[in-house]
Amino acid sequence: FDQREGTIWLDGRFVEWKSARIHVLTHGLHYASCVYEGERVYSGSVFRLRAHTDRLYRSAQMLDFAIPYAKEELEAATAELIERNEIVNGYVRPIAWRGSEQISTSARATRIHVALACWSWPSYFDPAAKEKGIALQTAKWRRPPPVSSPYEAKASSHYMIATLCKHQAEANGFHDALMLDWRGQIAEATSANIFFVRDGVLHTPTPDCFLDGITRRTVIDLARERGIEVVERPMFPDELDSFSECFLTGTAAEVCPVGRIDAHAYQPSTITFDLMGAYSERVNQVEGALAHE
Ligand code: PMP
Repeated sequence: FDQREGTIWLDGRFVEWKSARIHVLTHGLHYASCVYEGERVYSGSVFRLRAHTDRLYRSAQMLDFAIPYAKEELEAATAELIERNEIVNGYVRPIAWRGSEQISTSARATRIHVALACWSWPSYFDPAAKEKGIALQTAKWRRPPPVSSPYEAKASSHYMIATLCKHQAEANGFHDALMLDWRGQIAEATSANIFFVRDGVLHTPTPDCFLDGITRRTVIDLARERGIEVVERPMFPDELDSFSECFLTGTAAEVCPVGRIDAHAYQPSTITFDLMGAYSERVNQVEGALAHE
C-alpha cells in the first residue's frame, strides 16, 4: 500500500505517496498515542466532513494532545488532496500522532504530526457478499469497560482488539466479527455499528462503551424520519434468534446487510433495503445541494 502513486498531505505539505514516511521511534507506534478518522468521498466531497473533523479533534483531546492546525485548514487540505488525487468515490484517512522526540510513557516533549491520505474505495465488503448479507462470528475478545479507556475516542489502541477479532472471524470463513462488551452484551462489529429488526422496530445497542458512529446517527435520523421506531437499549446474545433483519452501519461499510451471525440467519428485507436506499440518497443529496449554492 505504501508504494503506489499519489499524493499525501503530511505536516502541512503535499508530498509524494512513497515518501510519506515516519521514524521507527515514533511514540504513536510504541505507545499508541495516535487517533484517526475514516471519511467517505461521494462525487468528490466528504459526507459530513465537519462531524469527522470534530471527532478527530475530540479524539486527540481525549488522548491528551492537541492538533496543531485549525479545523478549516485541515478541511481545506482534505479538499485539495481529493482533487490532486482525482478521487470521485473513495475514502479519506486523517491521522494524528506523537512523534519520536521522547520514548517513555511520558510524552510531553513529542511533536504532534498530522497526515491525510485518500484513495478510491467503492465498497468495504465484497458487493456480492453484501447483496446476500455478510456473515459475522461472535468474537472471543470483548470491548473493555468505559472506565478502562476513553472509548469515545477513535484511537488506534482500540483497534488492536478489532484486528484480533477480525482475523479470527476471517480464519473461520466469516466476513467480520460481532464484538460483545465486557458484560457480555452485544456491542458492534470491528469497524461498524449494528442494528436489528423485530416486528418493524429497529433495535440497536446503547453506545456506552463503543463509538456512537456518525453513520449510526444518520441512519437513526433517517429511520425516524420514515416513522420507523428506533430503540437504543442494552442487547444480549440470547436475543439473536428473535430478529428478522440485521445490518451494520459505518462510514466505510455504509449500510451493510448481515445474513448470519454464528448459526442465526437473517433475511435482508424491507427495512434494511429502505434504509440502504435512504442512506445512499442522503450521501449523494449533499453533493447535489452544494452544487446549487
Ligand atoms: N465502531 C467502530 C469500532 C468503528 O471503527 C467505526 C468506523 N469509524 C464505527 C463504529 C462507525 O463509525 P462511523 O459511522 O462514524 O464511521
